Parts: sequence; structure tokens; C-alpha cells
Amino acid sequence: MKKELTFIGFGSCGEVGRSSFILDDGEHKVLLEAGLKLIPFQPSIPPVGLDKYAQDLDAAIISHAHIDHSGYLPAVYRHGFEGKSFMTEPTLDIARMLWEDHYKIEKDRYWAMDDLETVYERTETMEYRQKQKIADGITIEFYNAGHILGSAMTLIDWKGYRILYTGDYNDNWTPFFDGYDMPDDPVDLVITESTNGVRTVPDREKINTAFTNEVRSVLASGKKVMVPSFAVGRSQELLTVLTDSISEYPIYVDGMINRMNAITERYLTSKWVSPRILKKLKEKGLESPFDHENVIGITRENFERTWDFRKHLGEVDEPFIIISTSGMLMPSPIHTHMRYNASDPQNLLAFVGYQAEGTIGRDILEGTRQVTVQMDRFNTVEVPIKSRIMQFHFSGHVSDEGIRQLFEKMQPSEIILVHGSEESRTSVSTLVKKGTTVHFPEIGVPLTIKSFERHFGVSTEEL
Ligand SMILES: [Zn+2]
Repeated sequence: MKKELTFIGFGSCGEVGRSSFILDDGEHKVLLEAGLKLIPFQPSIPPVGLDKYAQDLDAAIISHAHIDHSGYLPAVYRHGFEGKSFMTEPTLDIARMLWEDHYKIEKDRYWAMDDLETVYERTETMEYRQKQKIADGITIEFYNAGHILGSAMTLIDWKGYRILYTGDYNDNWTPFFDGYDMPDDPVDLVITESTNGVRTVPDREKINTAFTNEVRSVLASGKKVMVPSFAVGRSQELLTVLTDSISEYPIYVDGMINRMNAITERYLTSKWVSPRILKKLKEKGLESPFDHENVIGITRENFERTWDFRKHLGEVDEPFIIISTSGMLMPSPIHTHMRYNASDPQNLLAFVGYQAEGTIGRDILEGTRQVTVQMDRFNTVEVPIKSRIMQFHFSGHVSDEGIRQLFEKMQPSEIILVHGSEESRTSVSTLVKKGTTVHFPEIGVPLTIKSFERHFGVSTEEL
């Protein structure tokens, strides 16, 4: 029997986006992630070369719901995958929302709505620290990755050889998570994200305070704050932080954030979120962190004509906060709010997340002061950006210290760096202890895992 394990990447090798990798020992093939790469104003890019493996896969693992990790999974089934997918229950719930939303944009470019039905039928949900057999001799276990609701690191026990795939993870405490959890015992191989490179991520408490203070001072001067934000994760964190100290001004919530809030509310138990937030809710007698009189969703349930209400918000001369998708200022409800509120030099446009190249958000950060905003499907309008612009460096990804601690405790003899630019993963490689083999996989080029062979005491073939 051949004792060889290979790793093949189909994306996220020297880039961020379209994460998708296979581990293959000749007998079993396990898929880690099936993501799409989203490109501003262009069609997304699928993982390269994955389709031809779909029929041979034994199982798929999805670390968390973000489209760059999950968006291609329905297509894998379309291409003949017949096995099961494993993910946490919140991941499935959030992914369902993101898949349905993505379908509105790309239609059946990669998969059709009935493929989603197949995904739901074949998906098995798991909790953290619960062992699950996924193929003969292969079991997995999830650990809370602290990145977004339901995000998981995966420990794979491959016939006794231990692999930790981190997915996206965060060591910083956020309102919902106490950083990442990891296995209690060392592993042989770590496959880690390297998004931030070697970068010290500022303490979350400090950024929260700076953000809240700034928002408060704008409101106190009678002005408005616009916060373009990601629907999943960041918006819920901000709402939790803002409502801690702001109750006298309205906080309007627009776009998919409202649906994500509702999903979050279903998982407010110690299984999924930090005891800190549960304790806080209990103390305040609240059912949900979004359950405040001044938090108002701009939804059809609350307003007969949401569009008119957005316009009304632009006309009133009173202070408020608006948190709205999209996080990178791409066409979405935030455009309407910019149209009505971005021309006042005393209003604040607060950036709270990463702005990818080519997005309107990045353009504004780099100095563009006139943007074309989408009013509806057919109409655009030119809007001058005169409001103040500030950036707050929140991050959902691990810091250099967080990676160092992971390596320290997991003591892998081999490391594979994914999900980061060439520059980032090169800088992460400097955190690796001497004597550890580090791989920089390239798309479509199989890597042989040396320590796997050593683990089984053979170098090539066992007779
Ligand atoms: Zn992510």
C-alpha cells in the first residue's frame, strides 16, 4: 500500500479568495473548502481544476460561510460529488443566505437552485469538539476559530496522522468570541491562513473605544455617521459595541445585516458564542444584543417603503448612525445613504473593514472624492464625497502573535501556507521554528507531505 499524502490547491495559493484544497492519500480524497473569488464589477473566479476531482471525493469540509470558502460547494455537487459535506449548523444557515444572495447576482453560472437542495440533503452539521468519521480511517473534529459565527478549525485524524486546517481564524477577543480554540495535543501538519502576514493587529478593545468615541462626538455635534459594513460578523460586533454606550441616538441597520442579526439570535448559547456576551445579555435582561429601542432595521416589516425612508433620513436634520451593506461600498443600500448624506462635510463616513483593490471603498480611501452610485437597477448618479473619512482597523484574521502561539502549541513538523498574498505568506514563514518544513503551494501543483511518510515509517512504497 502506498503511504503518501498529497495536497493540491485550486485557489488561495498566494492570494486571498476561492479557497479550495484536496488532501489525497491515493485511497481517499477529502476536499477542504470550495470558495469563489469575488472581483469588484466582474464575474467571480472559481477554483481552478477542481471539477475533474468532484466525482472522486469522499467528503467535503467547509470551515465557515464566507463565499470565498463556500460559494462553489453547490457546483462541486453539480460536477458529480456524491459524498457528504461537513460544517457547523450556523455555517450552513449563513451559507444558505449567502448562496441565495449570490444566486441573484451570478444566476446559474456555476450552479442552479436545485444544486442547493442537493447541498442541504448531503450536509451533515457538527458542533465544536465533537468527533465525526468522514471516511474509513479518517475522523474530524471542529474547534471554534473565532472568525465569524460558526467558523471552525478542523482537526483531521488521517489514520493516526494529525492535520490541523485553520480556515480563517482570529486570536483577538471580539464581542462574540474569545479568540480561537485549538486541539489540546500537537499535530503533524498545520495548514494555515496567512491573510495579515506578520502584522500586529491592534487590540480590539482599543479600536472599539476609538470607534465609539468618534461616533459619539459626531452625534453630539448633531451630525450623521455612515458605516459601510460586512453583513456577516463585523456589523453584529459593531452593534453590540455601539449599543453598550449609545442609547439616545437611533442606529439604523440596512441591507443583509438584518438577516444576519436574525441568524445570530438563533445561536446565542454557550455552544456557539462567548459566555461574556451571554452574561452581559442576562445582566441587562436582553434576549438579543440587537434588541434595543434605538436599533432600527430598515426592512419591509418596519417600513412600508424602505426607499422613501432612506430618502427621509437624508432630509432630516438630526443625528443618527447608519450601518449598511456593502462593506466595500459596492452597489447596495449604502449607496442611497451616501447619495443623501455624503455631501455634508461634518458627517462621518467610517470604514470598519478591509477594502479590496478595485472597490469604491478603496477608491475613496485613496482619495477619490466623486463616486458613481447605483440608485436602482438602471440609474446611477454622481455623488461628491465631502464628508469626513476615517478608517478603523478592525480585523477578523489572526495576528502574528496568534500564529506564533498556534505553532508553539501545535508543534507541527510541516506547515502549508495558504489564504494570503505572496508577501504575507513569506512574512508568516519567518514565524516558523527552525527545522520545520514550510510549503508555499501553487495552484494545481501537488505537494507531497513528507512527515506523513515518516509517520508511517516508510519513505516511498511499503511492500
Ligand atoms: Zn472568512
